Amino acid sequence: MAENRMDKIVALAKRRGFIFQSSEIYGGINGFWDYGPLGVELKRNVRNAWWADMITEHDELFTPAGAPSSFDMVGVETSIIMHPQVWKVSGHFDLFVDKMVDCRETRSRYRLDHVKGRWIEGKLADAAADASPETLFVCAVGDGPELLDELTKRALKLFGMRSNQADKLNWKSEPASLATLPVEQFASVIAPEAKSKGTLTDPRDFNLMFKTTLGALGTDADAAYLRPETAQGMFVNFKNVCDSSRVKIPFGIGQIGKSFRNEITPRNFTFRSREFEQMEMEFFCPPSQSLDWYTYWRDRRYNWYINLGVSKENLILREHAKDELSHYSVGTADVEYAFPFLAPGEYGELEGIAHRGNFDLRSHMEGKLCKKDGELVVETGPDGKPKYAGSGKDLSYFDDQTRERYLPHVIEPAAGCDRATLAFLCEAYHEDEAPDDKGAMQTRVLLKFHPRLAPIKVAVFPLIKKDGMPEKAAEIYREFKRAGIAATFDQQAAIGRRYRRMDEIGTPFCVTVDGDTLSNDTVTIRDRDTLEQIRVSVKELVNHVQERLRG
Ligand code: ATP
Repeated sequence: MAENRMDKIVALAKRRGFIFQSSEIYGGINGFWDYGPLGVELKRNVRNAWWADMITEHDELFTPAGAPSSFDMVGVETSIIMHPQVWKVSGHFDLFVDKMVDCRETRSRYRLDHVKGRWIEGKLADAAADASPETLFVCAVGDGPELLDELTKRALKLFGMRSNQADKLNWKSEPASLATLPVEQFASVIAPEAKSKGTLTDPRDFNLMFKTTLGALGTDADAAYLRPETAQGMFVNFKNVCDSSRVKIPFGIGQIGKSFRNEITPRNFTFRSREFEQMEMEFFCPPSQSLDWYTYWRDRRYNWYINLGVSKENLILREHAKDELSHYSVGTADVEYAFPFLAPGEYGELEGIAHRGNFDLRSHMEGKLCKKDGELVVETGPDGKPKYAGSGKDLSYFDDQTRERYLPHVIEPAAGCDRATLAFLCEAYHEDEAPDDKGAMQTRVLLKFHPRLAPIKVAVFPLIKKDGMPEKAAEIYREFKRAGIAATFDQQAAIGRRYRRMDEIGTPFCVTVDGDTLSNDTVTIRDRDTLEQIRVSVKELVNHVQERLRG
């Protein structure tokens, strides 16, 4: 079952040191996560794969398939706290809000669209004996099958029914988000965790940016914000990058770094956290080529996940409908993954690829823009001046080939490193049947990571702890380390147990030193997925593994 699979993944992540709840010994803190010894390697590999694909392994002389021309790519690392004007001009100060509701009974706070409910007819357990049944909107927070179970449990409890009476519940609708319900009907809503009806406040705007104070005085003028996205770091440095490096349009600026959003209902493991890492790239191009570049980056980013082992059945590219687009966007597509915590057929966003036009550069020049009669214009205050002034700097680009000056258009692939890591973890989780040491079939848990993402690439075992095998195995282990291959050494427990331990953390190869090694200088190398074992000469071993890691 879907929920079962996710529970197993979360349990494995904790048991084997991939992901822990932050500050767990103090009861945890909602929306924050820590990566353990294996998780930090997995996430670093995800980050490195992105950076290599985007920046270090990019060939600026070569036109990749599907791209309109060759192009440059560079990286930056910008500060988390930026000038507060950045967020006023970008629109985050006014528009980066979610609707929230408070429950007067339980004092809980929810993001409006995260609360889901179902209409049901029944009589509350504490209603008067002669009261007639009423139609109520019973709510819970969740997705997929878990949500349906939770709603059923809640309804049974509220109506004072027994757990075996679920088929007697008189449902009047399928689950729908509370955001679809008119506020006038809130009197009939039973909030998640509440016992009585009508306890929710009217929805209010809640800004997702974390506010902090600079310096010791702490006045309003010292307010600053933790960045909710890394993208603005690239826009405000556009001129610096053009002036300091030899990039020519078209080119991209990439960045990986932490972002912060005060999510009202963080949930689904690391999927929605309050502190997370983004991998974003702003691609600057001539306006006339922007749609071609949009298509190019959309398809390339989808394929990045496929090339790292995500199956096509679980990954979709969803083009946004016009009414879903952000205030600046000309076109946006999401790469979405069928996370196991979602219902079959539902997908969660891994990355958004947005055509942002010249919105950001223009705003940072002229001031915050807004839409008026279908056109983007500078938003003005009561005095007729820009509501939030831009930098006043000229951020246009001069093309010395065509002798034209223009404001470039921007294509932005914005990915979440933690969401990608979680998707790779979910995709890798498998159970199969494999023989144990005595030949009996046993359920085997394995993480089928792409070799490039696996935290440990190779494990080296002496078959037994004598006859010089541990010494030989230690020598081989060190050779892997010297070659920069993440290796581990294990001589504890029966060989079958050691293989299982490595399968469970996704190590693609296990090398075993046995009796034959000492006579003919060969070892066995076992493949995690196929269980195939072949003999390889020790001299060839590092090269052999390096080849197979390349895939
Ligand atoms: P959502 O609709 O899920 O809140 P978003 O559309 O607001 O996401 P973007 O602003 O496009 O997200 O951010 C780009 C990427 O950053 C997302 O695709 C996602 O991978 C990641 N991301 C955004 N918010 C979070 C979060 N709270 N926790 C983890 N990753 C996040």
